[in-house]
Amino acid sequence: MNHSKSQTSQYKNRKASLAKTYEFEVADQVQDSLMFIVEKKESTYHFITCQGALLQKFGYEDDAFNGKQIDECLPKYHAIRRAISYDRAWEGNSVTYEDTLNGIPYMGAVSPVYDEKGEVTRLQGFCVDMSKKKRAEEKLKEREYYFRTLFNYHPDGIFTLNKDGRFLFINPAVSQICGYDEHELYQTHFMPLIVPEERQKAEDFFHRAKQGEMLHFETSVFHKDGHQIDLQVTNIPINIDGEIHSIYGIVKDISCRKKSEKELHHLRHRIASMIYQSADSIAVFDLKNHLISANPAFEAFYGWTEEELIGKTVPYIPEEELKTYLHIINKVKKGEKFTGLESTRIRKDGTKFYVSVTFSPLHDEDGDIIGYSAITRDIHSQKIAQEALRKKNEQYQIITEHTMDLISVFNADGQIMYSSPSHYAVLGYESGSFTDLEWTEIVHPEDLPDLLKSIANLKNSKQSMKMEVRVKNSEGQWLTLETYGTAVVNHKEEVDSIVTISRDITERKKTEDFLRKSEKLAVLGQLAAGIAHEIRNPLTSLKGFTHLLRANASEEEHDYYQIMLSELERINTIVGEFMMLAKPQPKNVKKNDIGRVLKEAASLLEAQANLHSIEFILDLDSELFLECEADQLKQVFINLMKNGIEAMEDDGKLLKIKAKKEQDAIVISFKDDGCGIPQDKIDHIGEPFYTTKEKGTGLGMMICNKIIENHNGKLEIESEVDKGTVVTLTFPKA
Ligand code: ADP
Ligand code: MG
Repeated sequence: MNHSKSQTSQYKNRKASLAKTYEFEVADQVQDSLMFIVEKKESTYHFITCQGALLQKFGYEDDAFNGKQIDECLPKYHAIRRAISYDRAWEGNSVTYEDTLNGIPYMGAVSPVYDEKGEVTRLQGFCVDMSKKKRAEEKLKEREYYFRTLFNYHPDGIFTLNKDGRFLFINPAVSQICGYDEHELYQTHFMPLIVPEERQKAEDFFHRAKQGEMLHFETSVFHKDGHQIDLQVTNIPINIDGEIHSIYGIVKDISCRKKSEKELHHLRHRIASMIYQSADSIAVFDLKNHLISANPAFEAFYGWTEEELIGKTVPYIPEEELKTYLHIINKVKKGEKFTGLESTRIRKDGTKFYVSVTFSPLHDEDGDIIGYSAITRDIHSQKIAQEALRKKNEQYQIITEHTMDLISVFNADGQIMYSSPSHYAVLGYESGSFTDLEWTEIVHPEDLPDLLKSIANLKNSKQSMKMEVRVKNSEGQWLTLETYGTAVVNHKEEVDSIVTISRDITERKKTEDFLRKSEKLAVLGQLAAGIAHEIRNPLTSLKGFTHLLRANASEEEHDYYQIMLSELERINTIVGEFMMLAKPQPKNVKKNDIGRVLKEAASLLEAQANLHSIEFILDLDSELFLECEADQLKQVFINLMKNGIEAMEDDGKLLKIKAKKEQDAIVISFKDDGCGIPQDKIDHIGEPFYTTKEKGTGLGMMICNKIIENHNGKLEIESEVDKGTVVTLTFPKA
């Protein structure tokens, strides 16, 4: 290899400088370096020497490289890379390289060493551990990244101003807050952004920051679109080498907070005035049940002033409610809410009254329960009215449920909505089944048109009505009801429902009829008493002389006398019957066997029965003893048997006479299979002179009634037209 002069001097210089560097470096960084000398033999490099503390860090023994070929002591690819560096150095270059050996980053430098001829005889180099530096670099990078991220993504706006108050940097949050981007703000002054009334203050603060003061303040600025934003600002002066270089600022948009603060304030104010003006008493208690505050309504309700009770428990719970009260309060203190509890309270003056109370727990900002509120509403008059109404309803209930009057409620369509339990007792229909029953079915067909007309009238006139209706009971008997109907009108003046109250007046009607008859009877009785004797005496002489005349009469005349006699006999009978009526209470009362009396009556009439080929069947218990006047009862039996025979004159065969001993009565029945009596005529039987017979007197049944009544008995007629009639007598055993 040939070297020029210049090259030589270059080498010398280099060597000197290298030695200096090398010495310096080794002295300085002996811990972290190594030095080596390499020579080239047969195109491979050998370490002549390699020493330094770095060797150990690389993981080698102190003399591991000495006298070794590089590919013997270094990992394969590392040896190749080094050979390339060394090749370039052998060509006369100073070569530096960075590499990593066994995980340790290092920097190496290698330079040629020339002999006198200027030829490269060996290479000399050193390596320095770069781990620390690398790490430091990485940290720096990391930190820079971290700060940049922080800056870019920080939710608060961050900016720097130079000493003149012009923007240097802003982060994206600043753009978001004020609407300007980085370029728009760069090198512009902050002052135009500040609202005019805040500018003086901003000027002062900026000045103070420049003096090195760190400041917090709130101010307002204009957004790019002109609206005002409230900001919280922190200014931090950046001090470099004792001189304020720039101002670092952090801004927070507090417009929302300001707005909600305002709203909250407003709301609080409104709530406070609501509480103050509330008609409900509102009191707030702490957890010890001590009063914290009470509104004017509380004072008006209870009679205590807020001052009197503040910090104390309120003695307004009645003794008997204390336990329940404390139980509820304990639940409220655990967070439960109670609405509209009905309870009683005591006023300061000792009076008790009904209230409806709502308890709510009160929380502090952290959500912990710190007390509770009690909102009380006076429901005293309401409660009293309710109670009165309840009592009244109860009374009505008792009346409707227990009355024997029939109470029904019909809707406007005529359906039964309610029927009182008395329906069962009176009519025999279960109250449930009665509502299902088409009620028109049980109304007498003759009465139904009138009833429907009355109901229609009632709906139109909205006035009440009264009428008599016959209805059928569950056994098919007709009962007469006196019915009052009243329309119930709703607020629209429409008929909502119709309430009817009906009373069974069948018995009353009977009594009325009976009374009517007895009145007639009484008059008749008096008449009879006066006249009977007067008639009887002349009648006796008339009869006697007619007998006499008949005895001497011619054949032809005989018949006339005979007719006269029988007509006289008829008058006599009528008068006799009259006299029977006139007779007061039975006088000759004795214990008689009814069976015997019946047999005697029957034998008297047998001839007449035979005439019409009617058979008598007697079914009599033995020893039918009754305290009675036998002659009078015989008269009754004769009358009834006669009526039976007369009913069977046209057709009919059998008269069954039955007499039975019951528990406490003797029951006698006369059953014929004659013409029967129409239902509507039955009531007339027994009226004086009521007869359907040509030769009848219409007095027989009346006399029967009278006698039976005198014996405390009862006469009942059951009859069906063309089937026959049963007359039943019941005499109570004394
Ligand atoms: P009289 O027999 O004189 O007509 P009563 O007072 O005995 O008078 O009877 C009144 C009416 O009652 C009779 O006319 C008859 O129409 C009716 N009557 C009474 N008993 C019977 C009977 N067993 N069957 C049918 N009708 C009867
Ligand atoms: Mg008769």
